Amino acid sequence: MDSMWLEIVLNAKSEELDLISATLIANGVPGLAVEEEEEFRTFLEENRQYWDYVDDELMEQMKGVSRIKFYVTDDADGQKQLAQYLKGIDLPYTSVRLREYDWAHSWQKYYRPLAIGKTIYIVPEWERDTAQIPAGCTSILMNPGLTFGTGSHASTQLCLEGIEEFIVPGKSVLDLGCGSGILAIAALRLGASHATGVDIDPKAVDVSYENAELNGIGRDRCKFLAGNVIADKSLVAELKELKAPLVLANIVADVIIPLAPVVPELLVEGGTFVCSGIIDKRGDEVAAALEKSGLKVIRRFEKNGWIALAAQVC
Ligand code: SAH
Repeated sequence: MDSMWLEIVLNAKSEELDLISATLIANGVPGLAVEEEEEFRTFLEENRQYWDYVDDELMEQMKGVSRIKFYVTDDADGQKQLAQYLKGIDLPYTSVRLREYDWAHSWQKYYRPLAIGKTIYIVPEWERDTAQIPAGCTSILMNPGLTFGTGSHASTQLCLEGIEEFIVPGKSVLDLGCGSGILAIAALRLGASHATGVDIDPKAVDVSYENAELNGIGRDRCKFLAGNVIADKSLVAELKELKAPLVLANIVADVIIPLAPVVPELLVEGGTFVCSGIIDKRGDEVAAALEKSGLKVIRRFEKNGWIALAAQVC
């Protein structure tokens, strides 16, 4: 049966959070989340390279927040644990009942077959037998799990359009920042012979292999690796050995700009680099970095405030 959980929320002054967390851990809490406005801002600042833009709604939700959350099962055992965990903590708490299934699956209802570009349909795995895909179109089955890459983001869609335009059937593809593997898999479904995907998040490797398998693509046609495409020198050396006629990078401006100087070495002669994940106000800055590295921007795609650029070695 589906388990029920209680989310316990302790509101406390920010200067008390460390002491309360330490007490909870000493009392045996296996995991907790500290949410605090100032800490959230610092976290964003320290991880600037992963985003250009943070939802205003999220910023609003974090205003004035100073709290600790943890979870217990909603049963007699959970109540016993809760009493043990809260020993020595004299603070009121609130609790919210959560159904595990609802929590884990709530996003599935928002994820439907999605038509992209001229011929691509992204189909959630659980609709593989019911989705109606027009003849002549290419369906790509996806189960995004907890990685980025459902196909619903404008930057992914722009890259998919770039793949349709610049793919060289029968040749290989590199997918930098592969997430769920969506771009590598789309390229393979559209005729690429082999794809190599890389992501800084190790979860992306397993998810990408699983998604490739869902699409009938075996390990003979794809390889997914964990690593940082700007900081990991041996990874970059490995990628240089794999030169391809199409290199994709749907990351963010702050990764694409430092990556630009190595891009010409990742491309075979006449090859195309398609990069995305760029908010429109940073488009010119990325274009300038590409041009400085010996690439010429040949195409600019735009959607909902996001930009993708296609570039080739001059
Ligand atoms: N390719 C997918 C996911 C794009 S999201 C799509 O098009 O939908 C960007 C991905 O880049 C994330 O999965 C993130 O973990 C990864 N990433 C960010 N910085 C990176 C870096 N320096 N090296 C490798 N991957 C990186």
